Amino acid sequence: MAKPKFLIKTWGCQMNVLDSDKLAGTLMDLGYEPTPSEDEAEVILLNTCSVREGPENKVFTELGRLRPLKKNKLKVLGVVGCVAQQEKAAIFSRAPYVDLVMGPRSIMHLPELLEQARHQKALEAEFRDDSVLYPGGKISRSHPVKAFVTVMEGCSKKCAYCIVPFTRGREIYRPLESILSETREAVDSGFTEIELLGQNVNCWKDGATKGFADLLEAVSGVEGVKRLRFTTSHPRHFPLEAALLMAERPNICHYLHLPLQSGSTKILKAMRRQYDKEWYLDLVRQIRSRVPDIALSTDVIVGFPGETEEDFLETLEVVREAEYDAIFSFRYSPRPGTPAAKAEPVAGEVARERHQRLLDAQLPIQTRRLKAFAGRTIEVLVEGRSKRGTEWMGRSGDNKVVNFTSTGQPSVNTYLQVTVERAGANSLFGKAVTAKNEAPGAKCKA
Ligand code: SF4
Repeated sequence: MAKPKFLIKTWGCQMNVLDSDKLAGTLMDLGYEPTPSEDEAEVILLNTCSVREGPENKVFTELGRLRPLKKNKLKVLGVVGCVAQQEKAAIFSRAPYVDLVMGPRSIMHLPELLEQARHQKALEAEFRDDSVLYPGGKISRSHPVKAFVTVMEGCSKKCAYCIVPFTRGREIYRPLESILSETREAVDSGFTEIELLGQNVNCWKDGATKGFADLLEAVSGVEGVKRLRFTTSHPRHFPLEAALLMAERPNICHYLHLPLQSGSTKILKAMRRQYDKEWYLDLVRQIRSRVPDIALSTDVIVGFPGETEEDFLETLEVVREAEYDAIFSFRYSPRPGTPAAKAEPVAGEVARERHQRLLDAQLPIQTRRLKAFAGRTIEVLVEGRSKRGTEWMGRSGDNKVVNFTSTGQPSVNTYLQVTVERAGANSLFGKAVTAKNEAPGAKCKA
């Protein structure tokens, strides 16, 4: 008998992608199989993000488009993720044909929720605290070379612009043993690169004595872990012991995403970020003194309410001093229900112009940093074909995208030495030195 089929569409950050991998794993465990066809699917889940406006609007467009399928095969149409948690009333009112609305904290309960949703209209999942314990062995991992491992859920900060504490709830931490066990499982199934995930990983703890540096030490000690990354860090909580470990342990990648958000102490205070410009810059200096070749990336919000030209110039100053390898920048968009949403935003034109100036300021910095790799031979973990399809693509330990040619046929999830020939605006280009596998990672997942 043919298996029932499911389709999951995902928007948003890596945490949403991992949630979708967990939902897919659960459905496969229940006997479903994935399909790319909307017409064939009996279950369609839209996993969405509420952090910025775009993805949220997309979900309503998608729901309208999928509505006719409810007359055919489609038995359960669900909305999952942060936006679901936040907007459940709006979803059922604008799209009453939706069967299930479920936040990220309910992920463990998908089997019973699906069953209930077949008989009950407009089912709303409860907020739970066990999502952090999702069994790693069940995850249907979609990344070709990297295993994401949840270490915590939620966030107990109160950044004035952010909806995450409302949608994902307060911080809960996964016990160390459970994290180590998922890491070992991932290694056994062929992954050599592990990324620890959580909204605020630096606050992870297990009991009163184990903190983030202990976590890094323990996971980097798991045999077979060749690359260890983590995200997201918070400047207020990043421990310098972690930087020391990065310097000491060859398998902890020299890459750190350290969200800045603004370079102005006044705006940081309004954002409730719990650090100021000097604290942030001092942290960067201290990290660089311990890990001189570290690659830093950051998030910047432009046009936060109250941001003056002087405030923005301070952001440019930090960007120039911190010398990021990459910046993820956004124009501020208010999220309903957050404290900042009540304030008057900076005029759209002004925010757009500042955003462009930020990009213009960053470009020469990252270009210079990329050009410094020209002529060097670096280790790359192969992810697959490059975007253009004519080359191969992989990442260096410090998270640079490296496009390269090869006389051989490189296997996905293997490590190659690549000689860098030139730098583009966002990536490196080079030639593989060896075409044969240097350190087999695995049974290829791609
Ligand atoms: S640290 Fe701030 S921005 Fe990050 S998830 Fe928590 S509340 Fe949101």
